[in-house]
Amino acid sequence: MTQQAEGPLAGAGSGLSRIEIHRLRLPLAQLWVSPVATMVDRDVLLVAATVDGVVGWGECVAQHEPTYSPEYVDGALDVMIRHLIPRALAVRVGADRALQDTVTGTPALLAGVEEALAPVKGHPMAREGLTTAVLDACLRSRGVSLASHLGALSSRTGPGWVPPASVAAGVAIGVAGDVGALIREVAARLEEGYHRVKIKVRPGWDAVAVNALRQQFGPALALQVDANGSYGPLGVEAAAAHLAKLDGAGLLLIEQPLGDDDLVGHAGLARRLATPLCLDESITSVDVARSALALGACRVINIKPGRVGGLGQAVAIHDLAADAGVGVWCGGMLETGVGRAANLALAALPNFCLPGDLSASERYFTDDVVTEPAVLGPGGQMAVPRGPGIGVEIRSDLDRWLVWSDRWTS
Ligand code: MG
Repeated sequence: MTQQAEGPLAGAGSGLSRIEIHRLRLPLAQLWVSPVATMVDRDVLLVAATVDGVVGWGECVAQHEPTYSPEYVDGALDVMIRHLIPRALAVRVGADRALQDTVTGTPALLAGVEEALAPVKGHPMAREGLTTAVLDACLRSRGVSLASHLGALSSRTGPGWVPPASVAAGVAIGVAGDVGALIREVAARLEEGYHRVKIKVRPGWDAVAVNALRQQFGPALALQVDANGSYGPLGVEAAAAHLAKLDGAGLLLIEQPLGDDDLVGHAGLARRLATPLCLDESITSVDVARSALALGACRVINIKPGRVGGLGQAVAIHDLAADAGVGVWCGGMLETGVGRAANLALAALPNFCLPGDLSASERYFTDDVVTEPAVLGPGGQMAVPRGPGIGVEIRSDLDRWLVWSDRWTS
């Protein structure tokens, strides 16, 4: 199935000529169990965008089921095919302007695509996968790295800022079967060199897990917990009573204890707990981030470009949080090397003050879609890609994992 884009601007000028989607199934290195999902493989959507003959890549990080957020792979695919791709392919800007401002701001072509997609509500992960592919193509054409580009966009850095060579890596550990298994898993990750550990918690699997880790590894272990909203059904008072048991454990933060929409509840909970609250699922846009900060609903923000609708929005939230004195860190969505590379570039910005869920590819996948999968470097650091665009190359044998693919041209 190949659709021709139609619209008043189609056919004029230069720019985005082709979009491909590749749906892949990648085996996970080990079973992944969170409070909201259990996965044995990753249902992946890669987007390739061709701009003036140069191909850029993005990854839609929606998961197979709508249990982390309302988005899911089949839904993201549907909205891309029916609503986003036709609008994007209809955008035309003058050939001399398409890549303009790549170094100091948003390329004109990307600005045009974002404007064309604006009438479509929601679907931030689908939007981000598509716009990142367009941005990557623009940056590759100009030989500009994504990290440099994002630094130029940020009010905290600006043009000429030089990204750090690497960022500190953290690791996320799924819900373990028992305390012994958790301790063995954490010990293995610390041995590998990770700077901090995040564990998943839910009512009934919280204080026992945290206390066991403190007892085993002592106060120096940089530890944080993520509840994926699992305390929401308890209500604020009961959740506060429950989570106050963690206040003596010296956690870096408690992530998303209550429901996605409950900013006021999180603000109330934040007042009752000594441990900093961090929001993940709740922060779906720059506007929501502004509201959360105004309410005092969090002291830390987990930024995921897919959850907030694009890298530009991620940078804006980074800046907003910095202005409010609130630190951010980069979360993960079990990305392949494509999404991981973009996250590493984003996490190079200066207000990413805690290690992100930026782990080596091998932590999650037995094999990756990029020619040089991300590895954990000396000192528990992950290299920030320096090459043009997202700075990684896609393997030529994607077909080995292929479930479905299609292409659309203007
Ligand atoms: Mg989370």
